[in-house]
Amino acid sequence: MTFVYFLLIAAALLAATYAIFRLVRAVRVYLTFRGKRIVSCPETHHAAAVRVAAGKAALEALAGKHELELCECSRWPERENCPQDCLSEIEEAPKAYLVRTIINRWYQGQECVYCHRPFAEIHWHDHPPALINSERKTVQWNEVPTEKLQEVLGTHRPVCWSCHITETFRREQPDRMVDRPSDGLRMNLYH
Ligand SMILES: [Zn+2]
Repeated sequence: MTFVYFLLIAAALLAATYAIFRLVRAVRVYLTFRGKRIVSCPETHHAAAVRVAAGKAALEALAGKHELELCECSRWPERENCPQDCLSEIEEAPKAYLVRTIINRWYQGQECVYCHRPFAEIHWHDHPPALINSERKTVQWNEVPTEKLQEVLGTHRPVCWSCHITETFRREQPDRMVDRPSDGLRMNLYH
């Protein structure tokens, strides 16, 4: 009888270990494939903004399967029935196509066009950096359509959060701003 109990406990422990293994794998799949990505569409060879169904992929992983599919693409709904061949690119290098990775890489080694401070590590939740377009208007990333990302990186220049806020204020309320001659492009707010 004791041996039977031993076997039961061993089986339960094995099952629990296996369940934890699957759970860890599912979480890893979710974290790997969440987020918006820019891929080169295998059909058009142009940039497309896509999102992998990370939650579904995690559930599949929980069931021991490995299946990826898109839940969003900038070419939809026109090409909603495409074979989703871009998934093989994403699987090969999941991080490389992440919008955040592409943008972070772009800022590294560059400096703000106004204050000339170099960009260090980007903190997106706190004072995210911005951009300036050819008309010298600063814009934030949430104003840029993801599928235009590559194009925007070639036409815009980097601006830090502080300068973006100052420039936006100057643009919207020019009568409340004054130039400080010794400080070039930098402006001061009236308090
Ligand atoms: Zn700046």
